[in-house]
Amino acid sequence: MPAASHAADAGTLIVGAGQAGLTVAETLRKGGYAAPVTLIGAEADAPYQRPPLSKGYLLGDVGRDRLALKPPEWFARHDVTLRTGLRVAEIELESRHVRLADGERLAWRHLVIATGARPRPLPEAIGGRLAGVHTIRARTDIDRLRADLVPGARLLVIGGGYIGLEAAAAARTRGLEVVLIESAPRLLARVTGAETADWLAETHRRNGVDLRLGCQLVRLHGADRVTAAEFGDGSRIAVDCVVVGIGALPETALAEQADLACANGIRVDARGRTSREGVWAAGDCATFDLPDGPLRLESVGNAVDTGALVARNILGADDAYAPEPWFWSDQYATKLQIAGLSAPGDAVVVRDVAGEGRSHWYIRSGRLVAVDALGAPRAYMSARKLLKAGLTPPTDRIGDPKTPLGDLLATCR
Ligand code: FAD
Repeated sequence: MPAASHAADAGTLIVGAGQAGLTVAETLRKGGYAAPVTLIGAEADAPYQRPPLSKGYLLGDVGRDRLALKPPEWFARHDVTLRTGLRVAEIELESRHVRLADGERLAWRHLVIATGARPRPLPEAIGGRLAGVHTIRARTDIDRLRADLVPGARLLVIGGGYIGLEAAAAARTRGLEVVLIESAPRLLARVTGAETADWLAETHRRNGVDLRLGCQLVRLHGADRVTAAEFGDGSRIAVDCVVVGIGALPETALAEQADLACANGIRVDARGRTSREGVWAAGDCATFDLPDGPLRLESVGNAVDTGALVARNILGADDAYAPEPWFWSDQYATKLQIAGLSAPGDAVVVRDVAGEGRSHWYIRSGRLVAVDALGAPRAYMSARKLLKAGLTPPTDRIGDPKTPLGDLLATCR
């Protein structure tokens, strides 16, 4: 684009100063984008990492300064205007502006919606608004929760997903009594296979969590503050605080109000384009229409990959999203690393090798589609290479402890 046209170019405005929004800004500047780049974030903090919130930051091992994704001087150095503590209230599509909550209007040529997700709330009618009931998304949520995590207190965790499990592990490590309830018959039912779920259930029980599967919450009790929980089997326990980990909802309010197509997220094509020209979406809030069907992921890898994709396409590329999903979770001393996406019905091959760790390999229609590595970082790295190359080793060799990982790769060639 000739330099002269930049004078009139309102540039790219990014709503949401999280992992995806920051990646858009960074990739634009790396790619030589010369027009203005503005990043608007509703939280007071500059862009920061969320994964440590339910891990090291909750434990107190990671300080606030180590959460930041960039040093403060990075923004000026890269000519990125960062405005925090400001909420975009409305998108004006025809005039290509946004209106902030305080009434200020800002122009854009490209608009990127990177508004993330918010925790699914526990309904107020069953005690979701009582003091001592916490959800986990932002740094400030953890600051409030930490004040309640007093050794000896009893924490109830509602929901056996990653956030609930990480909160349970951190609370046990901090010396709390922990009861974790999950309404499904097993943990992580939406996201991983039964072998991994059972292994994690055993790990939590061994670490003293009172894990109740197939257990429904009826309601929380308390006058102002939560004091008890009542379950579907009629039992009732005293509790001092509660973490609600029942999933997240894509933050689509702005997009819906602007009449952009939404269905479990803001619908975008494989290039990150919404239903309106010049408006893009990336990260947790976006559902990509891909050849294998719609895909919305909540992970750092997805936020970075889709943020970079949108920026490259704003710069004039014509790239389609080719997801290479990966994820991790830290619970007690174990790092769980996941490559690929498993689904119910996949065959599972267990690989358990002394000195290497345990890994679960998912096979669908004869093809390797995902691997869960439980304290097995080398197996995870091998799996990522195989998945990227579209290779599947013979299943009897995967599960054979006498076949070294290196040979596993060789069996495919
Ligand atoms: P976000 O990081 O949520 O950023 C969106 C931002 O937009 C928010 O700051 C929000 O306030 C802002 N916003 C929303 N609406 C507006 C508006 N109208 N105006 C202005 N600003 C607005 N992923 C992993 O891969 N591994 C992990 O181990 C892992 N652990 C996690 C632990 C926790 C506790 C949480 C909460 C998430 C974890 N994740 C993990 C998921 C990962 O952090 C998210 O997928 C990632 O942060 C998504 O980035 P994002 O930019 O799409 O959204």
